Amino acid sequence: MSRGARGAGCYSGRVSFSELGLDSPLCRAVTELGYLEPTPVQEQLIPALLAGGDVWASAQTGSGKTAAYLLPILQKLTSGRRYTLRALVLVPTRELAAQVGEDVARYGKFLSPRPVHRVLVGGGSLDVQRLALRGGVDLIVATPGRLLDLVERNELSLRDVETFVLDEADRMLSLGFADELARVLERLPVRRQNVMLSATFGPKVQVLAKGWLIDPRGINLDGGAMPDTSAIVQRAIEVDAGKRTRLLRSLIRSEQWDRVLVFVATRQATEAVVRELEKADISARALHGDLGSTTRAGALDAFVAGDIRVLVATDLAARGLDIAALAAVVNYDLPRSPADYLHRVGRTGRAGESGVDVSFVTADSAAHFRVIEKHHRIALEREHVAGFEPVDVAAPVLDPHGGKKGLRVSKKDKLRAAAARLKR
Ligand code: ADP
Ligand code: MG
Repeated sequence: MSRGARGAGCYSGRVSFSELGLDSPLCRAVTELGYLEPTPVQEQLIPALLAGGDVWASAQTGSGKTAAYLLPILQKLTSGRRYTLRALVLVPTRELAAQVGEDVARYGKFLSPRPVHRVLVGGGSLDVQRLALRGGVDLIVATPGRLLDLVERNELSLRDVETFVLDEADRMLSLGFADELARVLERLPVRRQNVMLSATFGPKVQVLAKGWLIDPRGINLDGGAMPDTSAIVQRAIEVDAGKRTRLLRSLIRSEQWDRVLVFVATRQATEAVVRELEKADISARALHGDLGSTTRAGALDAFVAGDIRVLVATDLAARGLDIAALAAVVNYDLPRSPADYLHRVGRTGRAGESGVDVSFVTADSAAHFRVIEKHHRIALEREHVAGFEPVDVAAPVLDPHGGKKGLRVSKKDKLRAAAARLKR
């Protein structure tokens, strides 16, 4: 199934793309992709970007933010100076950069002249990317590191950038990117349009963002809220840490998931889980930051194409990726933060599709999961899967006064554990 058309019908009674001020080649491209009408964030962001001025927008995962900023940018690039870098989009991962690059091609298909765009990401050959810049370029989608490599070698200048986009802005403004972002900002012209998008903008990030946005227009459409929960079923299964791989194998079979994205905490764990799945004849690949760029791209392509059934990834894959017909997301290890939980959940149930998000809750992670639930105001029923009932129970909390009061192991838990032991 191609990305796009699905679920377009849910946004009824809205204005058309052309009424938002987009020219016919762009309208034609989105119509061909099956977009019947703009999504709410597109309805607000497109005219705002065409008008100029800084904008930040917070809207749920899967709500169509990419087209919301790319369409007006492409329109602006069809007039004025050509072969001059006038629009720069920064994203946190190579995979997301590639996807946004594909979107540029899809949306710009009928434009004449068609803006020249390049995707610059780490891992690929610097020489190839350097050569690709010769002859000029109108739009660049990049991860900050590689962009800076080229800029600091004077292969590329940012001085003509008119529109600067930070997709997954809260991630881009986090400490991990602070130094690189500062170096990019130094090289951008003072007069420019800044655009920031994310599904999650914490209060700290808002303060940071507003520090360098000038009189921004804020568009807040339920950002930070769960993606359309009617389409996504969230489940929590209690299981012993040591049995998670077997439970995963069993679920993939019993639930007949044909495309599953599994999140684990570490790079090593991705490889280990892949090996265990393969032993059971379930095709799987790992995706994490230590892999070479060809391997990374190959794994994601194989997953999208349906050549493998399971992609086991670190949080690298939590942001922005739009994978059609993703049946399930499994939190084999729980995400670190409530925001990461939301981004992972948002990989499924996109553009009106349905999906299921399953979290494995172990004795050690039970308290952490309650924090995530509380943050998102959800309370999931804890499930047990036959044959995988947890035996480990939460560690006793010792009463500082030495008494047995406060022991968290309930009688019911003990019985349950004993029953499970007998079954084994
Ligand atoms: P976000 O960045 O908000 O998480 P994306 O931009 O990745 O979401 O879009 C999610 C999916 O919705 C993509 O598959 C995209 O092709 C599709 N889409 C975008 N706009 C529309 C629209 N107006 N109608 C139908 N589908 C759309
Ligand atoms: Mg996005």
